[in-house]
Amino acid sequence: MAGFGGAIKNLGMGCCSKAGKTWQHEKSKPLYDESKCIFCRKCLTFCPADAIYEENGKIKIDYEKCKGCGACTVLCEKGCFYLTNDIAREFQKRVAIAAKAAMKKFNGKASFINFLLDITPRCDCCSFADKPLINDIGILASSDAVAIDQASYDLVCKEAGKDIFYELHGIDGTVQINEGEKLGLGSRKYELIEI
Ligand code: SF4
Ligand code: SF4
Repeated sequence: MAGFGGAIKNLGMGCCSKAGKTWQHEKSKPLYDESKCIFCRKCLTFCPADAIYEENGKIKIDYEKCKGCGACTVLCEKGCFYLTNDIAREFQKRVAIAAKAAMKKFNGKASFINFLLDITPRCDCCSFADKPLINDIGILASSDAVAIDQASYDLVCKEAGKDIFYELHGIDGTVQINEGEKLGLGSRKYELIEI
């Protein structure tokens, strides 16, 4: 849903209350493409909010119940549940706002370590890891959540030779980094010091 998960994502989502997590997800409810459905019915029992149901032999989403967790987009092997870039953009904006709020709570006293090791295609919400996307790169440390995420994004794409996150998810994961900078969370400019 975020396209990429680094310091901002873990700060915004990870350091937030349940209510804050709900607020971040509430505008990211997936769309449904009926034409791809093979009616395996796996999604009917899977949704944690019990928002997916069957009506007249068709799969439906109850958007009143849906929490926007995105789990069904991973579960359905046919890709029936999907997000658009607009939906993902709103989600990332909210993640950046929550990250800014968390930093305020910490009085700005936080530092960040991004492990560019065993990078998985999906986040830790998923019960599987799959093989790493690319070779291990190293460990980054910074007191700036925006700079470390920009550097991480750039290093992974450089190693892959392409924007591997966009290729994988069709979502621009840099929105959260730009939004973080706009909110004063940090700067996208960075200097890499190798030790
Ligand atoms: S998991 Fe996907 S293919 Fe199976 S019934 Fe649900 S929407 Fe259709
Ligand atoms: S996004 Fe989550 S809550 Fe909404 S329908 Fe999919 S699995 Fe259920």
